[in-house]
Amino acid sequence: MYNRPTTILVVNNCCSDLKLISQVLKSQGFKILVANNGFSAISLAEKSIPDLILLDTIMPELDGLETCQRLKSNSKTQNIPIIFITETTDIETKIRGLKLGALDYITKPFDEKETLARIETQLKIQQMRLVLQRQNKQLQKEIVQRKKTEQQRRNIQAKERELNYKLEQKVAERTAELVHTTKELEASNQELKRSNAELESFAYAVSHDLKAPLRSIKMFAQLLAQEYQELLQGQPQEYLGYITSSAEQMENLIHDLLAYSRAGKNEQTWIPVSLEDLVSKSVRNLEATIREHRAIVKIGNLPTLMVNPTEITQLFQNLISNGIKFCREQQPVIEIGAVCDGDNWQFFVKDNGIGIDSKYHRKIFQVFKRLHSEDDYPGTGIGLSICEKIVKHHDGKIWLESAPNQGSNFYFTLPKKLHISPQSVLALRFDAPIAGREGFLVQRDNFKP
Ligand code: ADP
Repeated sequence: MYNRPTTILVVNNCCSDLKLISQVLKSQGFKILVANNGFSAISLAEKSIPDLILLDTIMPELDGLETCQRLKSNSKTQNIPIIFITETTDIETKIRGLKLGALDYITKPFDEKETLARIETQLKIQQMRLVLQRQNKQLQKEIVQRKKTEQQRRNIQAKERELNYKLEQKVAERTAELVHTTKELEASNQELKRSNAELESFAYAVSHDLKAPLRSIKMFAQLLAQEYQELLQGQPQEYLGYITSSAEQMENLIHDLLAYSRAGKNEQTWIPVSLEDLVSKSVRNLEATIREHRAIVKIGNLPTLMVNPTEITQLFQNLISNGIKFCREQQPVIEIGAVCDGDNWQFFVKDNGIGIDSKYHRKIFQVFKRLHSEDDYPGTGIGLSICEKIVKHHDGKIWLESAPNQGSNFYFTLPKKLHISPQSVLALRFDAPIAGREGFLVQRDNFKP
C-alpha cells in the first residue's frame, strides 16, 4: 500500500481500544507507536515524528484537546496530522478539536473500513502537503536565486554605467588633449615649413651669390696658369691646378645645392609625358659619361604619366649616372624598366656596380651622405637626396635593394595619374640619335626587374 512503513502514533487511554486499533493498523502494514496519556504522546511524537497521530479525546490529566493544542504549538510536531478518536455524541469536542488543528475524527466504536479509509485519506493529503512543501521550498530557493541574479545584473549594469561614464570622460579628455596636441603640431609644422623655406631660400641665395666670385677665382687661376706659364713652372703650376680643381668641385657643390633647393618645387609644368622620352633625354645628357665608361643602357617599356618632366629627367639622370659611376673595372650595364603595381607604376634602375651594404640603404638618401672618398668616386652626396625630394613631390616612394659587389637596384613609384596606351607611347619614343654609337649603347627591351 505504501512504499515505506508508515508510522502511526495511537494515543488512547482505554487498553482494549488501543489493542484493537493497533491490530487493525498493523495488519495493514503500518508501524505502530502507542501512548496511553497526553504527556507520553507529546514526548514520543517529538522523538519519532510519526506520519499520523490517532488521538483519543478523553484522557486523564492531559485530555486529547489539550494534547492536540500542545502538539500544534510545538514547531517539531505541528505539521503531524491528527485524527481524533471520539464518542459519536460528543459534537462539541469534535468541533473544538477541528478548530485546534485536527484534520478528522473517528467515532467509537470503530468501524474498521471507515477508520482505514479516513487514515489513508489523511496520509495521502499529508503526502501531497509534503510534496507541495518541497516544491514550495524549491520555488522559494529559485526566487531567492533569481532575486540574487537580478541584483547581480543590476550591480553589473550600475558598474557598466559607471565605467561607461568614466570611459566617456576619458575619451573626452583624450580628445581634448589630442585636439590640443594636433593644434600644437600644426603650429610647429607651419613654423617648420616656414623656417625650412627660409633656410632653403637662404641656401639658394648664398649658393647663387657664391657662383660669380667662384667663377672669377677659377678664371683668374686659369689665366695665371696660361699667361705666366713660363714663370710659374713646377710647384706654382701644381698649386694653380689645385685651385682650379677645388673651384670646380665647389662649383659642382653649388650646382647640386641649387638643384636640391629647387627640387620638388616646380609646380608649373605637369604634363602627360612618355617616361621613355624622359629617360632618353637623361641618357643624352649623360652622353659623355656613357661614352667614357663604354656603358650599356637598356630601356624597357615605360608608361606615359602626368609628371613634371624636368624633375623626372633629373631623377633618371642621377640614378643612371650613379650606376655608371659606382662601378669598378667591368663595363657598366644599366637596366631601366617599370611594372604596374595597383595604383602605382613601380620603376627600377638597376646596375652591376659595387653595391651598397644594407645598413646604408636609408642613410644614403640624406644630404651630403657619401660612402666613399672624393678620390675614389667624385661627388657631392646630394644626388640621391634630390631623387627622394622629386619622388616625394610626385607622391611616390624610393628605396633600393643592394649588397656589396652585387650591383644595386633602385626602385621608385609614381602614381598612375595618367596612363596612355603603349601604342601612343610608341609614337613619342626617342630612338635614332643615340643608338649604335661607339661606347654608347642603348637597347630597348621589355624586361622585368
Ligand atoms: P654622390 O653620387 O654625389 O656621392 P649621391 O647622393 O648620389 O651622391 O649618393 C650618395 C652615396 O650613395 C654615394 O656617395 C655612394 O656611396 C652611394 N651610392 C649611390 N648610388 C650608388 C650606386 N648605384 N652604387 C653604389 N653606391 C651608390
